[in-house]
Amino acid sequence: MTKQIENKMDKVIALCKRRGFIFPGSDIYGGLANTWDYAQYGSQLKKNIKDYWWKYFITDREDMVGMDSAILMNPKVWEASGHVGGFSDPLMDCKNCQERVRGDQIIENALGIEAAVGKSLKQIGEIIKENNLKCPKCGKCDFTEAREFNMMFKTHQGVVEETASAIYLRPETAQGIFVNFKNILQSGRNKLPFGVGQIGKSFRNEITPGNFIFRTREFEQAEIEYFVKPGTKAEILKTYEEWKKAYWDWYVGLGVDEKKLRFRDHDPDELSHYSTMTADIEYEFPFGWGELMGIAYRGDFDLVQHEKVSGKDLKYTDPETNEKYLPHTIEPALGIDRTLLVVLLAAYDEDEVNGETRVVMRFNPEMAPVKVAVFPLMKKPELQKVAKTILADIKKDFTAEYDESGAIGKRYRRQDEIGTPYCITVDYESLEDKSVTVRNRDTLEQERIKIDELNKYLKEKLDK
Ligand SMILES: [Zn+2]
Repeated sequence: MTKQIENKMDKVIALCKRRGFIFPGSDIYGGLANTWDYAQYGSQLKKNIKDYWWKYFITDREDMVGMDSAILMNPKVWEASGHVGGFSDPLMDCKNCQERVRGDQIIENALGIEAAVGKSLKQIGEIIKENNLKCPKCGKCDFTEAREFNMMFKTHQGVVEETASAIYLRPETAQGIFVNFKNILQSGRNKLPFGVGQIGKSFRNEITPGNFIFRTREFEQAEIEYFVKPGTKAEILKTYEEWKKAYWDWYVGLGVDEKKLRFRDHDPDELSHYSTMTADIEYEFPFGWGELMGIAYRGDFDLVQHEKVSGKDLKYTDPETNEKYLPHTIEPALGIDRTLLVVLLAAYDEDEVNGETRVVMRFNPEMAPVKVAVFPLMKKPELQKVAKTILADIKKDFTAEYDESGAIGKRYRRQDEIGTPYCITVDYESLEDKSVTVRNRDTLEQERIKIDELNKYLKEKLDK
């Protein structure tokens, strides 16, 4: 079970297409680079991850509320948040091979992070020339001048493009929470510390997307803004560490191997424009360690900015002291698509059954898109009828599907590849003894269970 699997990433991508988890976007038109569509099983898996997040961080806690804000926001929001001015990368083109590169990354990779920090566009160009830094694709040092490339998608709201106002697709969900801070306070009477979380799509025009669903220009985030009383460093640090631990535990609960997870504290140099303390949780992907999420202490940056730009008083009134102040925030932000990729990679396994290699997705039962499959042994009306009745009953509690096509062994393989924990077969004996065979995905053990005890059996196995 722990054996190394060669080309795991390629195998997972192939399985995703073959079994209906994830398809290339706009596939029949030759695709659209870097877009992916979640299909019948992928969309259910994604929903399971989101439901698990929502329950764990919102509804199971007393100090959290959820929200779902609009993707399109007043452009002033992005001025206040610093995204219009600061959310950009120094973009350069290789004149020889047309490769698009980030000037700061070229410098960073060759000369270290310090060499790139705080440099102007002009300086970036000079450093690259002076040190004869090469294009990663063709090896020449012949670039255009560096220019600011803002990662926000810009579009127009209104009927006539010329007169309509410019508007952005949000690059993060967080600002939807900050701009609603006062409304939530006034309608919910929340007391500090409390948090607001939401799941939603965000858009970033990445210069170098890739690695399947790891880095895409359209992606889904789950973000929390946790508001706390401005306190001493020790007090803030305590809450910050609590959030780091909560997320570590959450990933482990998803079925992720702890040995493949690590924390990485950001160097002060690479912190985002708003953050004074940030840690990532990283996962060891087949292509190397990559960021799964960030936990950032943002101070009061966002609320200060929104107060300034909107002119509205966003202060919190302490119910005990009547003191008025802007809370500080700790922001855990994760990518749902990345998390889904990790769940797929963690679940993918190969073993040997009857001398043949079997591909099996060992999802946690809670994550599995289909919990139970029901088969009639043969396509005979008397067996089909019993199987359909059982299916209808199971569907009241669990996602389940029916399959009657092909040999029973083939049907098992299909369910193994989508990670279905239990398969139920109705055979001729079932008509006599009112029992069915239940097969376990992981142990391959088959048990005979009375039909009227199936419900209890499955609830014990599948309910956490
Ligand atoms: Zn080049």
